[in-house]
Order: sequence, then C-alpha cells, then structure tokens
Amino acid sequence: MPSSEKDLEYGLVSKIQRYSIKDGPGIRTTVFLKGCPMQCEWCCNPELINPHPEILKDQKVCVHCGECFSNCPEDAIFEEADEYVINRTLCTVCGVCVEVCPAGAYQLIGRSMSVNELVLELVKDRVFYEVSGGGVTFSGGEPSLQYRFVRRVAQELKGDQIHIALDTCGNVPWENLQELLDVIDLVLYDIKFADNDKHTRYTGTSNEVLKQNAKKLSAAGVPLIIRLPLLPGINDSMEEIKEMVTFIEGLDTVKQVDILPYHKLGIGKYIMLGKEYRLGTLEPPDRKHLEKLRDLIQAQGFTVTTGE
Ligand code: SF4
Ligand code: SF4
Repeated sequence: MPSSEKDLEYGLVSKIQRYSIKDGPGIRTTVFLKGCPMQCEWCCNPELINPHPEILKDQKVCVHCGECFSNCPEDAIFEEADEYVINRTLCTVCGVCVEVCPAGAYQLIGRSMSVNELVLELVKDRVFYEVSGGGVTFSGGEPSLQYRFVRRVAQELKGDQIHIALDTCGNVPWENLQELLDVIDLVLYDIKFADNDKHTRYTGTSNEVLKQNAKKLSAAGVPLIIRLPLLPGINDSMEEIKEMVTFIEGLDTVKQVDILPYHKLGIGKYIMLGKEYRLGTLEPPDRKHLEKLRDLIQAQGFTVTTGE
C-alpha cells in the first residue's frame, strides 16, 4: 500500500460499478479498491487481493497473432502448448500487451486515480442516489487499507450530502476504520466463520481482530449490515450459523443480515490470473437449507436478505 504523502491524493482503483443494488440501500455506485489482507478461498474478486496493478489474460479470445509475444519489452510472454502465456515473475505490468492485442485478451487491473478524478466520476450519479436513497459504497479488496484516500474522497462526497457505505472484511488495524468513522454512514461487515481454526484454514487469517473491530464499530454507534458468505459443507451447519448469530446479537447497531450464497462466478478470473482455485468441487447451497438458515436468523429478530 502507498504510505507516503502520495496516498493522501491517489488511490489504486480497479473498477467503478454503477447502478449497484446489493451494496447498501438504494442505487449505489461501488468503487472497488485494490489490496486485501485476507486470502478467502471462495473470493470472487481474486484480482483485487494483490495491492498492486496486475494483468488478466483471457486465453479464450486470443487469435494467435503473436503481437503480445513480439512486443513485450520484458520477454515475459512465451509459447506453451499453442498458447501465449505470461511469465508473471518477469512481467512488470507495463501494459504494452493490453495496447497491442487486437482481440482484447489482456486487461490491466488497477489504476491510480486522484481524489478529484474519482469524486468527479461519483457525483455523475447523484440523481440516482437522490431518487433512490442510495449513495456510494467503497469496496474491494479491502478499502480501508487505503483509508487516507477513502477518507478524502468521502469527505468531498459528504459535503454534497451523499450517503457513504464501507464494505469491509474488518481484518485491519482498528485505526484504519477509526479514521473513517466521521465520514461513513453505514458499514457492510463480513462475518465468515464462528470457528477460528476454520477461519484461519479458509481465509489465511484469524478472526480475532475482525471480531474486536465489529464490537468497536457497534460501540461507536455505526449502523452495520452483517454479511455471511454461505459455503456448503464448510460454514453452513445449523450449529455454526447459531454461533455466528450469537456473536451478531452482541452487536447493538445491526440493521440487517445479508446471506451471500456461494457461487462460482469468479472461477474464470483465477484462470486469467494464472492462479489456482482451491474450492473447485464446491456447489452453491441447496435452496431448502438456505431458507432454513434464513428463518433461523430471522427468528432472532433480524431482517435477512439472501441475495435475491
Ligand atoms: S504487461 Fe508488459 S511486461 Fe507484462 S506481459 Fe504485458 S507486455 Fe509483457
Ligand atoms: S496479441 Fe492478443 S490475440 Fe495476439 S497472440 Fe497475444 S493474446 Fe493472442
């Protein structure tokens, strides 16, 4: 992450998604920032984990012209089994292959944006925020890793009375979240496992810090929407969900619980990044079981959504 004065003005943005209706109330524009401290095995945005720009390559659209191979200044593209493949150790993410490929097989993920540049993009959708009760959501990756940048952008938007939500994994130093408290209206907060061993096994990190941070956000009076990614056979037993609900009941500011059923939509991106997808055999949850879990959480008095 940038740590010099530069990150007061610039952030590494991967995507700006307009007309989003699942990242908080109303119609929202969601800003996806690069970099995440966790390595969740089911992550559907693996291109946002690395805190630096990187290249996605879609082999399916390649027309085998050889332009990328000939023009790569680092000789980082080689031929293997009739395909052009990136040697990611040699690649410097210069972007030449993105420019020369006639088929659009390459994408550069992550571009540096100034506070002003991003604010100008986000205020374009103001009319949608106003008519729908929506606003802007900072997501990722983990947006609070770039908290100085997010704070500056959010300050500008708050000046325009735009509602701000932060979609966080919570697994960051408390200071990162604390710095944003006066510029955010809502936090979307992931709780992935009640059991710490499983949390460590499937995300690469303990859940201790994120549990403490959830309590601190609640104590600070920040409205929370809790998000539960539902992974069949991994975290979806009645016992495990009951344990998560017990934890959520200890938070005073929870407005809603969103169940996020596992899906496979991100798998193609692992191939495009040259990464292994480790949950290959997992299937989306059974509808009846999903409804049972929804009812269980609702019975504790929470408003629950299931992504429909
Ligand atoms: S981004 Fe640059 S260095 Fe990397 S593969 Fe493409 S042309 Fe080569
Ligand atoms: S430039 Fe594009 S189309 Fe040509 S070989 Fe490279 S990836 Fe394939």
